[in-house]
Order: sequence, then structure tokens, then C-alpha cells
Amino acid sequence: AEIWQSVPLAPPDSIFKLTAAYKADTSKDKVNLGVGAYRDDNDKPWILPVVKKATQILLNDETLDHEYLPITGLSDFTNGAAKLILGSESPAIKEGRTVSVQTISGTGANHLGALFLSRFYNWNGPRKVYLSNPTWANHHAIFRNVGIEPVDYAYYDPKTIGLDFSGFIQILKNAPDRSIFLLHACAHNPTGVDPTPEQWRTIAEVIKAKGHYSFFDCAYQGFASGDLDRDAWAVRYFVEQGIPLLVCQSFAKNAGLYGERVGALHLVSVDQDTASRVKSQMSVLQRSEISNPPAHGARLVSLILNDPELFEEWKGDIKTMAERIKAMRRELRRLLTEELHTPGNWDHIVNQIGMFSFTGLNGEQCKELTETGHIYLTGNGRISMAGLNTGNIRYVAEQIDRVVH
Ligand code: PLP
Repeated sequence: AEIWQSVPLAPPDSIFKLTAAYKADTSKDKVNLGVGAYRDDNDKPWILPVVKKATQILLNDETLDHEYLPITGLSDFTNGAAKLILGSESPAIKEGRTVSVQTISGTGANHLGALFLSRFYNWNGPRKVYLSNPTWANHHAIFRNVGIEPVDYAYYDPKTIGLDFSGFIQILKNAPDRSIFLLHACAHNPTGVDPTPEQWRTIAEVIKAKGHYSFFDCAYQGFASGDLDRDAWAVRYFVEQGIPLLVCQSFAKNAGLYGERVGALHLVSVDQDTASRVKSQMSVLQRSEISNPPAHGARLVSLILNDPELFEEWKGDIKTMAERIKAMRRELRRLLTEELHTPGNWDHIVNQIGMFSFTGLNGEQCKELTETGHIYLTGNGRISMAGLNTGNIRYVAEQIDRVVH
């Protein structure tokens, strides 16, 4: 028999399946609210004007070639990226105790971070990572791949369509000391529910008291509120508190560079000596996995981060995306509450933040929306706000109203 005959068929990725079904639908009303990528008001992918400008600069640069980048990536990019998330005046950067490695976007940063922990974390028991319930589905697979078992922590409360704060704190307190907690830095995926600054302070306090390790995933800096600094607040606060942590950073959403795979892993350690040893081991891991990260996207982002004029322009582009999404949130809430008088409270749509909203619709209602309304969303009731636009939002609101009644 052929050696691969016993390989079981894996189920298709749920988002991929959803997109395929959307594409096959011939209705003129169809709406794709599954996709986790920004769309403009015409439902088209958006190349940021600042990215177009930076691309032109690269094209005209005769000094560039296609040689390999260093194993840990383009240093102008990683240095700029560290300042972006940790703050340009970050003492941790100034003291030389941060380690930054360029990765294959946010997914690669999560993987390298998980791999590094699996090899070097001072485990005092079974290898576990605490993940919010729910979380980005890939987190489970990424940690399992390196032999770390995911455990859920309470996060989303379906009754309030908000944060289960006391449940979360309880688990932080009850977990063994020095556990690893994965935290979404901002714009929690899939719920859009973030702790308030006050809640973050309490979370930090408990994490510090218990000696837990914070594994931050930051895939939406700037995209969430429209303000890069504001979305980095929790991470910077944790650094300030001296909580040991790492941050996975993606430029997929905030620079619209999804397919270019631009990201970084930043680890904040206690001193320069530790940082250089950590970096040496990350280089060894990176070498065996990808040898060297890709150059093009990192060059684009490096230009944008290090040129004050381009940086300002980028902030404007980020605002454009964040504001359009916020406008869609306000309009969807307004239509449901004030025009259609749909049963229930829809304030969570404007209180949630980032690309996604957890609508509170149940599996049955989601199915109904897709099958009879041609509206594609995941069965957990998550909708991508980026899939809404002035042309389809009324239709979507009417359909939600219909399935709720
Ligand atoms: N982490 C979270 C929470 C995400 O939502 C995403 C993208 O959807 C990522 C990480 C990684 O995305 P990428 O690998 O495209 O940067």
C-alpha cells in the first residue's frame, strides 16, 4: 500500500469554507461578514496610500538587491517596530533589554514565541498556556504544535455580551504561580471585547502578584481605536509594571500588508545580558525554521516607521480605516435600535472595538442569515465590521431584525 493512504482528511478551515460558499452564491444581495481583512466602502481591498508611496520609493532605490536579510531580520524595521509597540521613549529599549526578531507576520511571531517558551521557559509543571475563551482559533493549533497544551480562561460572558471580568480574575488567581497567559493587546478577536484601563490595572496587579508570564498578541495596533499609542497602552503599562512579557506584532491589518507577512516578536527581559542570550537562541530557532525573514514588506514598513512624514501619513490612513469601521458600528446600532426597533439591546456593537463584533446572534440565527439572507458569518455570531458598507448595511440590519423576531 502507498504510505500516505492512511492520512485522514482534515476538515477545511472554517473561514476558508465560508468564503468559498460566499463566492459560489449568485445572489446580488450577498454579503461577506466572515473575512478578517479591511474593505473600503465599495467592498474592495484597500492599498494604503502611504504604502503606495513607500512602494514607489523602493522601486526607485537602485541600491536595493535581493540578498538575504540577517536571520533576525531588517534591524531598521525591528527597531522601529519595537518603538511603535513599546513607545519611542521606552526605558526597556533604552536599557537594551528588549529582543526583537522579524517574523512571518503575527502568526509567525506567535509561533516563534511559543516555540521559544517550549524550549526555554522555566516550566514547573505540565506545559500549559492559558487562552481566553474564545480566542483566535489558530492560537490553539500554534501552541499544540510545539507541545504546549491550551487551557481556557473565562473571558466572554454571553449574558452581558461583554467581559466576564470576575471569572477572568478568578482564573488568574487560581492558576499555578508562573503560568503563561495569552492576552490580546487590543481589539480582542473574535469578540471585540477589551478590558477597560481600570480592569487592565487589576489584571496586571494579579499577574504580577502571581508571577505569571504575559504572552501579548497585538494584531490590531492603531486599527482598533485609530490611535497607535492608545492601542498599545496595555502592553506599555505591563512593561512599566515590570511584568515579564513578550509581544507578537503584526502589520497585516494596520498597514494592509496581509500577504506580505510583516511582523515581529519582541521580548522584554530584565537586563542587556539576558536579552543577548535570548536573542542568540531565537536566532538558532529562526534559522532552522525560515533561515531569514522576507525583505519586501519589512522594507516598506521600515520606510514608514522611520520617515517622520510617511509616519504621519500612515497615522492618517489608519484613522481612515478605524473611523469607517466605527461609523459602521454606529450605523448598525442605530438601524437596529432606532429604526427597526429590533428586540434586545444592541449597545455592544458600539462598545466593542476593532475588526469584529460579537453580535450575540445564536447558531440558528446565523444559519438563517446565511441560508435565506445570503449573509455569510461564522456560527458563533461574529461579524467582520469591515464587510459592512453604506451600500449593504441597511440590508444587513433588516435581515438581522428578521432572524431575531
Ligand atoms: N493574532 C490575532 C488575534 C489575529 O486576529 C490575527 C489575524 O487574524 C493574527 C494574530 C495574525 O495574523 P497575521 O499572521 O496575518 O499577521
